[in-house]
Amino acid sequence: MTQTSQPVASHFISGQYVEDDAGARIDVIYAATGEKIAHVHAATPAIVEQALAAAKAAQPAWAALTGTERGRILRRAADIIRARNRELSELETLDTGKPLQETLVADATSGADALEYFGGLAASLTGEYIPQPGGDFVYTIRQALGVCVGIGAWNYPTQIACWKAAPALACGNTMVFKPSETTPLCALRIAEILTEAGAPPGVFNVVQGMGEVGAALTTDPRVAKVSLTGSVPTGRKVYAAVAAEMKHVTMELGGKSPLIVFDDADLDNAVSGAILGNFYSTGQVCSNGTRVFVQKGIKEAFLERLAERLDHAVIGDPLDEETNFGPMVSEAQLAIVERYIAQGIEEGARLAYGGKRVIRPGNFIQPTVFADVTDAMTIAREEIFGPVMAVLDFEDEEEAVTRANDTEFGLAGGVFTQDLTRAHRVVASLEAGTCYINHYNLAPVEAPFGGVKASGVGRENSKEAIHHYSEVKSVYVAMNDVEAPF
Ligand code: NDP
Repeated sequence: MTQTSQPVASHFISGQYVEDDAGARIDVIYAATGEKIAHVHAATPAIVEQALAAAKAAQPAWAALTGTERGRILRRAADIIRARNRELSELETLDTGKPLQETLVADATSGADALEYFGGLAASLTGEYIPQPGGDFVYTIRQALGVCVGIGAWNYPTQIACWKAAPALACGNTMVFKPSETTPLCALRIAEILTEAGAPPGVFNVVQGMGEVGAALTTDPRVAKVSLTGSVPTGRKVYAAVAAEMKHVTMELGGKSPLIVFDDADLDNAVSGAILGNFYSTGQVCSNGTRVFVQKGIKEAFLERLAERLDHAVIGDPLDEETNFGPMVSEAQLAIVERYIAQGIEEGARLAYGGKRVIRPGNFIQPTVFADVTDAMTIAREEIFGPVMAVLDFEDEEEAVTRANDTEFGLAGGVFTQDLTRAHRVVASLEAGTCYINHYNLAPVEAPFGGVKASGVGRENSKEAIHHYSEVKSVYVAMNDVEAPF
């Protein structure tokens, strides 16, 4: 295992692996055992310079290819990813600790979907013809932005790299991507695959490092756009830093999303939605519906059914395909989750399920449910980013919507009810970028994904992403003499 997970070198620039061991060593720890499985070195200023220079040099020729040619390369990369799904899924599991049962279907495959989707769109990125009086007209040209920087969180390292690279490259941009220091392995493999698929040197580059490497990339004047997936505090910092130069941004940040379960909901579906929205990837999902508002009439039945279902969670070795609940990504993240659980108990919430560490090596904690949670409690206000569900009671629809919206975040929201009219009315009122009716946490590439309020700016996936990786030039063409007042 140790042999296969050690990358050839830390960075991937201009179509090849590059090393500079003067950079700080970053150990990659397998979350399920605590074992060191690989290491990389943080980018030195020389590596950052090399990556940005490569991306800058490669961009004009990449943008000059036809969309069909760029698209073909992206679609070829999607095919390679699918053909190598098992190997990439195992690497994702080693990088993050997420169970193979999940990574086989949710990570490399989602990355391949993005490359295939935007590869397909690339040839159709055209402008408009806008008629004007007297035969004059305006035409628009959709142009690439230039060099884009992508910065990733640690929960979906393959998917995040592809969700950013695919639309960026489809539009004719080049990219320098910095994965989270916690999960540095997967993005390198994506760079390798894009190169194998025919992406010219410099089109997609990966450099490793902590926040300061991210900061050096985002503030470089050669960079036209920054797309960050991360927490709200980091988002605020990066947004402020790039504002000085009016760069384009996409911010995919955190959340504390509401999931509203009405009395008339199909109970099993609602429980399934709450499980997907709180315990998938051990709760390390930005769009999780961690404030579960349950109408009083079914509260006890909901908690009972939930507990029965959680008894069937298979906690253990993530590389065993029977396992469906893995460890937290790191000891640090585990400590954060344990602090929140202690705080929930201190503030008077009722611990209805779990709450304890699982006694085995690695960063394991039980799926945890708090009941009788009130809006002011810390566990109902702050993003925990772990498997901790807060169940809150409510009486009626208006109250549920008002309380659901009473948060600085606005990433996602969901409703479970059999009443269609109510379902649409409720999601229309939710202050959230991504909503679900009678399901939770699906993120198909064809649908826009992103948040409002502090949860972000811009959208990933779907045709919407094209607007965030390109800009429109409008050209007025006169077909008549020019009239001037004097
Ligand atoms: P962080 O905000 O800690 O880090 C995100 C990335 O930003 C990391 O690569 C980090 O580097 C880098 N970074 C840190 N400081 C700076 C800086 N000043 N300039 C540039 N880059 C910087 O998030 P986590 O990695 O802890 O991920 C968890 C968070 O991500 C959660 O809040 C979650 O909600 C959010 N998230 C949002 C998603 C969405 O689509 N909305 C999806 C997934 C996660 P390093 O950590 O290596 O130092």
